[in-house]
Amino acid sequence: MTCGGRGVQALLHLPIGASLPATVMLADGVPLPDGPPVAAVVQLLRSAHRHDLGGTYCDHDAGYQHPEGGAYFDAGRLAVRWYEDEVGADTHQVLLGQARAIRSALTAATRPAHLRDQNGNRLTGYRIGRAAQAMAEATGILLGRNGSQRFQLA
Ligand SMILES: [Zn+2]
Repeated sequence: MTCGGRGVQALLHLPIGASLPATVMLADGVPLPDGPPVAAVVQLLRSAHRHDLGGTYCDHDAGYQHPEGGAYFDAGRLAVRWYEDEVGADTHQVLLGQARAIRSALTAATRPAHLRDQNGNRLTGYRIGRAAQAMAEATGILLGRNGSQRFQLA
């Protein structure tokens, strides 16, 4: 995996060990894989403190008082993309298995999040990591997703 600025985004090429596109620059000490061509790309966006609808990163000091509802902790996102008719049936099965393994690792590192939206309605299907939950409980910061959606731990 390679991480962009602020460690916010990581990309992983599938199948695991695939050769890299020519546009990828390797960090020092990262060996060049020489497997089959890249067939899918996994994108992991890390969760982050932000403070407006546009998703600006929040770099304020811990003591800074935002306007109410200003700061929030934005959810991370995992996305995997490939096209079955481009990669063929065998590679499709490999990619399915590897994508499931990645999802399992993310699931193992998180647990179901008990959330309420701003109308007090319970939400299901969300997950949160232990450290993020502890931080949200300690600070009361709103949790966010997709720009305008805001939640609180129930
Ligand atoms: Zn801020």
